[in-house]
Amino acid sequence: MNRSSLPILGVDPESLETSSVAAGAESMHALGRLPEDWQKLLESLGERPYRAKQILNWVYQQRELEPQKMTNLPPSLRERLEPFMQPLAQVEVVKRASDGTRKLLISFDEKTRVECVLIPMIPKVSWDSPFTEMDDEDDEPSEKQTRVTLCVSTQFGCAMGCVFCESGRAGLKRGLKAEEIVAQVLVSKGYLEPNEVLTNLVLMGMGEPLHHYDATARALRILTHPECLSMSLRRITVSTVGLLRGIERLGKDFGGKIGLAVSLHAPNDELRSRIIPINRRYPLSQLMGVLRRYPLPRRRRITIEYTLIAGFNDGFEHARQLGQVLRGLPVKINLIPMNPVQGSDLQASSSERVADFQEYLARDGYSCFIRTRRGDDVAAACGQLAFHSEPSSASAD
Ligand code: SAH
Repeated sequence: MNRSSLPILGVDPESLETSSVAAGAESMHALGRLPEDWQKLLESLGERPYRAKQILNWVYQQRELEPQKMTNLPPSLRERLEPFMQPLAQVEVVKRASDGTRKLLISFDEKTRVECVLIPMIPKVSWDSPFTEMDDEDDEPSEKQTRVTLCVSTQFGCAMGCVFCESGRAGLKRGLKAEEIVAQVLVSKGYLEPNEVLTNLVLMGMGEPLHHYDATARALRILTHPECLSMSLRRITVSTVGLLRGIERLGKDFGGKIGLAVSLHAPNDELRSRIIPINRRYPLSQLMGVLRRYPLPRRRRITIEYTLIAGFNDGFEHARQLGQVLRGLPVKINLIPMNPVQGSDLQASSSERVADFQEYLARDGYSCFIRTRRGDDVAAACGQLAFHSEPSSASAD
């Protein structure tokens, strides 16, 4: 079960931040720019400041990235915008599962392909959106609309090497630029159905968002800025393997408003270190300490992700230990039946086991949900599509 040769364990893992924010701000792509970056750019071009609002409207409200179609801008400005609006993302494959889940394979260059998943929330069915708080009713979309959660990627590949995860198999290829993270949201919005509204975002696709903090945080600022996509901070969840400094930075920079999901997957250090190498550096006691200090607003909870692996972490004793480890923390627990991965002998726990595990924790006083598999028929588990489909043979529908 060991994945050896993990460079990440040799040095401070968080010093290995995969840098990708464009070096020269002047050449930064339109989707990587905050309104203040636009102001500066327009000023340097001798343009009036109000043009920023017009451009942002085209980009985020109309999802228009061709300057020539921005008809209320003077032709000279349209031309000067060309270098910042070069095509960024190409949708290579769209796979639709029978449950309405849509998985998009998006390429940024010939080497970099990531996946995004649109997941319609099924109203009042057992699937608890792991990322939606119970107190959301006040701003529910109208009855006829279906709320959709989008799962995006932050890196191509991953350095964390968790043994059950496809994304890390080939290691980390590169971190995505802020504009590439934002592009996933804009592009995916084009695949919503007329009755659907994108309300929630989870950074739970490929990669470890907190191993790529700067670009991730920049993308989050753009996505939530009122003049850009205006998404709600509290409807965004960052999922992490548990990088301590990253969690602290996220809490500080966003005042705890961004939802936090932690991939725990084991209730003690011995087991966790066997499947999640980073645990050898950041043992559970330290991780729990940082979670206790996360500046969570009242009534919000941290999501604990726990993938049930047959005969490994799914016994009553494990449930008991998990209850102990989490005692006193404001959490909800999401149990995830493991998605089988190629080349691994790890098996998913039986549904009876999962139900027993849930019942134990519920009796122990925890909100504990079983995350129903979504999009199984399109290989929707993390990393499965990006690494197991050939772009040349793929067809979009
Ligand atoms: N690096 C981040 C986010 C990406 S993975 C993190 O570790 O949280 C998103 C979630 O999918 C994590 O909880 C991860 O542990 C889980 N996951 C990965 N492979 C899986 C598999 N084969 N079966 C079930 N869950 C899996």
